[in-house]
Amino acid sequence: MKKIQMVDLQSQYQKIKETVDASIEEVLNSSAYINGPYVHEFQAALEEYLNVKHVIPCANGTDALQIAMMGLGLEPGDEVITADFTFAATVEVIGLLQLTPVLVDVEPDTFNIDIEALKKAITPKTKAIVPVHLFGQCANMEAVLAIAKEHNLYVIEDNAQAIGADYTFADGTKKKAGTIGNVGTTSFFPSKNLGCYGDGGAIFTNDDDLAHTLRGIVNHGMYKRYYHDVVGVNSRLDSIQAAVLKAKLPLLDSYCEARRNAARFYNNAFANNPSIITPTVSSKAANCSGNICSTCNCHVFHQYTLRITNGKRNELHQHLLDNGIPNAIYYPVPLHAQKAYRDDRYNESDFTVTNQLIDEVISLPMHTELDEEQLSFITKTVNDFIN
Ligand SMILES: *Cc1c(COP(=O)(O)O)cnc(C)c1O
Repeated sequence: MKKIQMVDLQSQYQKIKETVDASIEEVLNSSAYINGPYVHEFQAALEEYLNVKHVIPCANGTDALQIAMMGLGLEPGDEVITADFTFAATVEVIGLLQLTPVLVDVEPDTFNIDIEALKKAITPKTKAIVPVHLFGQCANMEAVLAIAKEHNLYVIEDNAQAIGADYTFADGTKKKAGTIGNVGTTSFFPSKNLGCYGDGGAIFTNDDDLAHTLRGIVNHGMYKRYYHDVVGVNSRLDSIQAAVLKAKLPLLDSYCEARRNAARFYNNAFANNPSIITPTVSSKAANCSGNICSTCNCHVFHQYTLRITNGKRNELHQHLLDNGIPNAIYYPVPLHAQKAYRDDRYNESDFTVTNQLIDEVISLPMHTELDEEQLSFITKTVNDFIN
């Protein structure tokens, strides 16, 4: 059996080596390392794929979030609501900009922002909501948009984990994750669903004025060379990364489907295990069969995350490692309990779901190259230990 990895970037690369190497060589021969043609070609290709008017490439997904918030003109003291159960980057940039993060609980089935908790957290100072499309599935955007509209709030989608996923509205309209709110952000970190071979990120919007503002912010606040209208940052996607991404973008849908195939295998294998809750796929698409169907494309499984309900999650983590099966706890500490983000305003009773999830969740190997022999071994090892 091929060695099991959490993410197998090497096997994926070997299959596209010729194309990627040729693109990188082209960049090397052109010496257009910054702002070269590949950056613009990738930007245009991604705009078309996402069906969004503007893609603004930048250096990484964390910058993308920060720049989005700067572009919307959020100011110190403005409250920004986001989920307690996510990667720290989301709350980090809120803090860096001296905005006030307001963390709220998540839903136990999708792990995404809880709509009732979100409603309760709104105050006159609230300016924006940052739904995170955790593990590859959109938050309940229909509800988020309705709340944002009622209270006149911006919606910034942290789409670092769900690029390629569709979101289907109740009326059947479909939009790509990240293109639903005022602005969306993503990361091209190597292990993300569309990963480059270094750091990269992008911001998406359909708003022409905002796009213009963002393009200046990523480039030192310049709208005309050497004229700095606003305080900006230096955040660029370099040409080599753009070349890699341009080669990989046409494969994104097949990558998502490969991930879904692995998820289906896992789901079937764990279906009758009383101590395991498999991921909930929550789509409003009329034709969604619920069992990770490809038609509605609503989950792209950045992670495949189980809940272990018999109290043996930590033992399972070690048992899998002992059997050569990498696995991870995303996330072991809720943001509200992190030293950097503690706040007297929070009550533990506001985070009952997150507090439970951190004890129950475990993420299994998930990538585009898992084969049936590996999946069988992983699921058998889990089922033999947890029952
Ligand atoms: C990875 C990630 C980010 C940050 O992306 P980087 O490119 O590593 O800066 C932000 N939010 C979420 C939810 C992520 O998973």
